[in-house]
Amino acid sequence: MQIVIFGAPGTGKGTQAKILSKKFDIPHISTGDILRDSAKRGTPLGMKAKEIMDRGELVSDDLMGGLVKETLENFASNGHGFILDGFPRTVNQAEILLNIFNLLKIENPYFIVLKVDDEEIISRLSSRRACSVCGAIVNLHDIEDPKVCPNCGSVGTLYKRKDDEENVIKNRLKIYRESTFPVLDFYKDKFKIIYVKGTDPIDVVTSNILKEIEE
Ligand code: AMP
Repeated sequence: MQIVIFGAPGTGKGTQAKILSKKFDIPHISTGDILRDSAKRGTPLGMKAKEIMDRGELVSDDLMGGLVKETLENFASNGHGFILDGFPRTVNQAEILLNIFNLLKIENPYFIVLKVDDEEIISRLSSRRACSVCGAIVNLHDIEDPKVCPNCGSVGTLYKRKDDEENVIKNRLKIYRESTFPVLDFYKDKFKIIYVKGTDPIDVVTSNILKEIEE
């Protein structure tokens, strides 16, 4: 099973991708996670990407295209499916992905779009925290103790990502509207696009996605 999960930042792509990855036993490929991990390890790619990510801007299509091609080729050659989260983010990347799919003979991926309005996104991302130990992403409204990571139990490790500061969030939403949203138009007659309301509770969003997939 090959799934692409798409939507503005803060629509819950990562959360749903993790759930679906477990359910279908397929790897969750998050381009944002790959870049953050590279930055943490101080690789040349990571150092270059970190400054761009902190401003909420996009890493170049060439770099991202190469990274995704290499990653998907690995999984496809193992006969596994995947869930891709965070790519494509430009029409150029959408074309690159189409070429990768042709090369790997992937014909009918599920293309799921999560829909949430801007006001809700800003509110969600402002109260979002990441754990510096396990990388979990949590919302302060959903946890009992803001000092303890609910995933790994570490204390004092939850922090606000630089790209979740309000001015950066606004920049990310602008970039989404201008550069990422047009991907949907590019794909509209190439894939069946499944739209799912992202403002329902997490388990309802999951079951709506599953209903669409089962159909
Ligand atoms: P995310 O965790 O998906 O919100 O990604 C965090 C940041 O990583 C983005 O704001 C971009 O700076 C960078 N990034 C992730 N995926 C891509 C991509 N496909 N193209 C360009 N930049 C990306």
